[in-house]
Amino acid sequence: MLSDKDRVFLNLYGQQDWGLKGAQKRGIWDQTKKLLDLGPEGIVEQIKASGLRGRGGAGFPTGLKWSFMPKQSDGRPSYLVVNADESEPGSCKDREIMRNDPHMLLEGCLVAGFAMRCAKAYIYVRGEYWEPWCRLEAAVAEARSAGLLGKNACGSGYDFDIEIHRGAGAYICGEETALIESLEGKKGQPRLKPPFPAAVGLYGCPSTVNNVETIAVAPTILRRGAEWWSGLGRPNNTGTKIFSISGHVNQPCNVEEEMGIPLKELIEKHAGGVRGGWDNLLAVVPGGSSVPVIPKDICDSVLMDFDSLREVKSGLGTAAVMVMDKSTDIVEAIARFSHFYMHESCGQCTPCREGTGWMFRVMTRMVEGRADVSEIDSLLDVSYQVEGHTICALGDAAAWPVQGLIRHFRPELEKRIVAYKKARQTAAE
Ligand code: SF4
Repeated sequence: MLSDKDRVFLNLYGQQDWGLKGAQKRGIWDQTKKLLDLGPEGIVEQIKASGLRGRGGAGFPTGLKWSFMPKQSDGRPSYLVVNADESEPGSCKDREIMRNDPHMLLEGCLVAGFAMRCAKAYIYVRGEYWEPWCRLEAAVAEARSAGLLGKNACGSGYDFDIEIHRGAGAYICGEETALIESLEGKKGQPRLKPPFPAAVGLYGCPSTVNNVETIAVAPTILRRGAEWWSGLGRPNNTGTKIFSISGHVNQPCNVEEEMGIPLKELIEKHAGGVRGGWDNLLAVVPGGSSVPVIPKDICDSVLMDFDSLREVKSGLGTAAVMVMDKSTDIVEAIARFSHFYMHESCGQCTPCREGTGWMFRVMTRMVEGRADVSEIDSLLDVSYQVEGHTICALGDAAAWPVQGLIRHFRPELEKRIVAYKKARQTAAE
């Protein structure tokens, strides 16, 4: 369990002042110039050494990502773009950072922007996040007046500013290139990669898109040292993480914990346990709606980190832990996810546009058992045709929950189909 001395997010629950004075009391903006004195290369090396991996879902090594940005300007400015379009069902951690400790994110932007030689940062905030957006705007104004942002930010001789942009409620704008398109004022549709944003990003300029939590932890890592961060968690899965625990638990919450904490411990220590006790657990979606569900027997022992969850064919994703007890209609729950992805598909590529609708329609029939047993394999086949064959990861995200359901709950699907057939036969007799 994470000790208080290793906690990074000291105002996650908003019990203290979120403004500049409160932030400074918590050590935010404390001698930030000293961090910048490490120089761009020094900062990138520290972040690499810490083992920090992106907290937005993909888990890509952050320092490596930063190192892809050009070291010399070719005349184009570089940009940092913060993905605050948190729309993954189950995820609500970035919201809490922005509303309760916005200065953590702003200081992180300065440090990360400096490390990548960026002219400016844009924070793209989910449209529905009104309060976090208001507080970010207020925090930027405070930081500007205090000389922490703007010309000669923190007395470093470096000019850096931050602009906040509100999205309009499209899930797909959380995909980095769709987000960039949307920032540019266009329809939020993902771009083909390559070119990657580090080469051609916002306004055709080198850009890096990072998640809120990733950027917010960077100054603390630099202050306390890469070794401290890499000593938390497990090898290749270092540091702390905010988990959003929801569903059939006694106390849904956001909680910062060490990477690699056992799922059972996470739920029992922080969320008051599963409703009706651990034995009443049916399954958990451990990382937001895009990752495959895992049944209780895996939940009994799995650790909450990127690699451990990958080993059990699921994923850490955004660490949004959705708990389902035995009262859950698991087929209906996954069918609901299928509806979400069908609805949120931007329609640009055929496997996703057609496949998400196809999967949803079959899943809808599966809920009632109005299907043939052979269709379970057809459904699986279609999910494989969608996975990996689309412009962006939304196709994978639509396929994986269905695959997880079939992998672990095939008997439940078959039982419904047999029951439905029997009921029809009885009615006909
Ligand atoms: Fe759009 Fe889906 Fe293709 Fe992504 S995978 S670009 S959301 S159609």
